Amino acid sequence: MDAEKNRAKCRKFYYSRKERDPEGHKAKQNRNSKKWRKRNPDKVKNYSAKRRKQNPEYYSEARKRSRLKAKSDAISAYGICPCGVHDHRILTLDHIGGGGSNDRPNKSAGNMWFKVRKLNYPDSFRVLCFNCNFKDHIVRLSKSWSMTKRAISERKRKRTLKENALNNYGKKCKLCHVNDVDVLNIDHINESGGGRQRKRSGWRLYKHLKDLGYPTGYQTLCFNCNILKYLEQI
Ligand SMILES: [Zn+2]
Ligand SMILES: [Zn+2]
Repeated sequence: MDAEKNRAKCRKFYYSRKERDPEGHKAKQNRNSKKWRKRNPDKVKNYSAKRRKQNPEYYSEARKRSRLKAKSDAISAYGICPCGVHDHRILTLDHIGGGGSNDRPNKSAGNMWFKVRKLNYPDSFRVLCFNCNFKDHIVRLSKSWSMTKRAISERKRKRTLKENALNNYGKKCKLCHVNDVDVLNIDHINESGGGRQRKRSGWRLYKHLKDLGYPTGYQTLCFNCNILKYLEQI
């Protein structure tokens, strides 16, 4: 009974203080909450997981915003792509000398922006656009290409297929006029190609187009413009 009485007294004091000094009350509440969080990290973790589950949209938006912020911080630290592309949407982080995918937490590029910020922007990374990144990737990859006769002729065959397709659809990007064959792709103008067609890419697509006698409805785009086109559609 005494305990009950005591509790009522405390409650009364608590509310009277709240009314007397709302500012001070709030400050004290914050202080206490901070202390409590420090004492109970596991509970905090559980609660925040619960909140994320209850309101996933809010938290995914918040995460998106902080990722964009980390990205623009990194771009201002490293500078834009050497080729002059400055659109943040098509700039990406490149691990100089390769090995990028081993270095990635959860293998997701988005997390890398947080990682480089945490490491205070190490020199082993740089910012490149998708075109330059792919070009760099190809150069690196070509060092370990198989040099058997068969592999060489196979590469030549695929390259010819690509060049023939580009001869038909234009040898430069329709939007930015880049003319580097390595970064050019054939793009289906309205993506309603559907099903099987949409999945075809690379030399399979070039072969397919050749078999059809190079139909209309396709255009040449570079990687950057392809990604921008995709982003503008969604
Ligand atoms: Zn570039
Ligand atoms: Zn382009």
